[in-house]
Amino acid sequence: MSTMPKLKLYNTMSRTKEVFEPLDPANVRMYVCGPTVYDYAHIGNARPMIVFDVLFRLLRHIYGETNVTYARNITDVDDKINQRAFDRWTRKRPLLAEMRDLTEGTVAQFNKDLKALNVLDPTHTPRATDFVANGEQPMDMVRIIAKLVERGVAYAAEGHVLFSPTEMDKLPGLPRYGALSRRNLDDMLAGARVDVAPYKRDPMDFVLWKPSDPETEPGWNSPWGFGRPGWHIECSAMAGALLGEQFDIHGGGIDLVFPHHENEIAQSCCAFGLDKMASIWMHNGFLQVEGRKMSKSDGNFVTIDELLTTDKFGGRSWPGEVLRLAMLKTHYRQPIDWTVRALEEAEATIYEWSLVGDQQEVGEPDPQVIDALASDINTSFALHRIHQLRSDAAQYPELRPRFNATLELLGIRLRKLETATIETDEFTTTVAPLILEREAARRAKDFAASDRIRDELAAMGIALKDGKDADGNPTTTWEVKR
Ligand code: AMP
Ligand code: ZN
Repeated sequence: MSTMPKLKLYNTMSRTKEVFEPLDPANVRMYVCGPTVYDYAHIGNARPMIVFDVLFRLLRHIYGETNVTYARNITDVDDKINQRAFDRWTRKRPLLAEMRDLTEGTVAQFNKDLKALNVLDPTHTPRATDFVANGEQPMDMVRIIAKLVERGVAYAAEGHVLFSPTEMDKLPGLPRYGALSRRNLDDMLAGARVDVAPYKRDPMDFVLWKPSDPETEPGWNSPWGFGRPGWHIECSAMAGALLGEQFDIHGGGIDLVFPHHENEIAQSCCAFGLDKMASIWMHNGFLQVEGRKMSKSDGNFVTIDELLTTDKFGGRSWPGEVLRLAMLKTHYRQPIDWTVRALEEAEATIYEWSLVGDQQEVGEPDPQVIDALASDINTSFALHRIHQLRSDAAQYPELRPRFNATLELLGIRLRKLETATIETDEFTTTVAPLILEREAARRAKDFAASDRIRDELAAMGIALKDGKDADGNPTTTWEVKR
């Protein structure tokens, strides 16, 4: 713990890299905005999950595994989810139960996707619906909204509760509204294209609570009637309940800076009377396709599951470790262009590394890689250094445990390919690619292709044995037939 380098992180709030000083080194706390689970997650959604997973691993390495608390939420109430739940509702149970059942499926799929990407389970994965009005939690949305009304920064109108940034800016000891996104309220008002609903006092006011029609929309009882929360209040409640009123790191995609994170700060700081919600605000850049952000609404997306199990992207499926490595090649704040070429390159790297690393014997990770990660998660430099480690470890087997540990720090798994008695060159150029291609075919349930490759290898004198690893993913070992 003591010989560790100083961790530096870029803080969107100050627009500079800052030396990270945890509020409590025995409990380093991080919150990341998770997905809205109305459907399969796309590979753009996977970017914050992977980036902050690397940071979670690094924090655990620096501060100790049990001294880091990571909460990543699930937004399981939202108008798209409500609509889907209503569409399939048979009125045999409450609409809320229907909605829960619907999101159970999408959450399970999301967890499966993340497992394939080797993302560790966070300490907490709260669901918004458990924090709306739940007296068993230390904090919930209804109680925070009531506090905001009491402090005079929120007001009820026609079944809604609205937050007033203008009222917030009149109170001392709080951050100014717009500090994170560097927008000023007057400019925002001048350029406002926000909808001017009749119940709003001011166009910049945003919704904390809105009424639900009990016939068609899920909802909870509250002092303001039957209704449901706005999106922003969810994260203030879940972060407050699980990490405390103030914590260390808050992360998410760059699209969340405004209005989502700006509004989280407004709510939490006003409710708890604090000048800051989190010490460091971190945002990952977009994953793009042909220069445009990948998004559901633009239709230019490919889901994580499609990449793993179908041939929709590049005419073939891709192992999770290839997707993960391709993601980490670019620094997290830069945009990534998602291309077949980048995936092919990542796959070639995984083959190459699998010849040297086996992750059987794990030592201490390489100090230069730790330094690179401690410098605002410089994964590009870390990977560059790992290429060097690989060639060193190929020459000096005693360096392999370090190579293995370094890959583990980045969450990069290598496939267990046994080199047995075959010459390394032949293995690299023919056997390994064929075995991986066949595994991809098996994952995609393309049994014709899988059998064809098996026969091809058999003709070369290689016998395959199929099995499953601890996570249920297909694995293949092979041996040279005598
Ligand atoms: P959503 O389900 O849209 O609320 O997004 C969940 C998380 O994924 C948020 O942190 C978003 O900022 C992030 N995200 C969504 N699309 C992309 C993208 N194309 N590239 C990077 N991050 C994204
Ligand atoms: Zn959030």
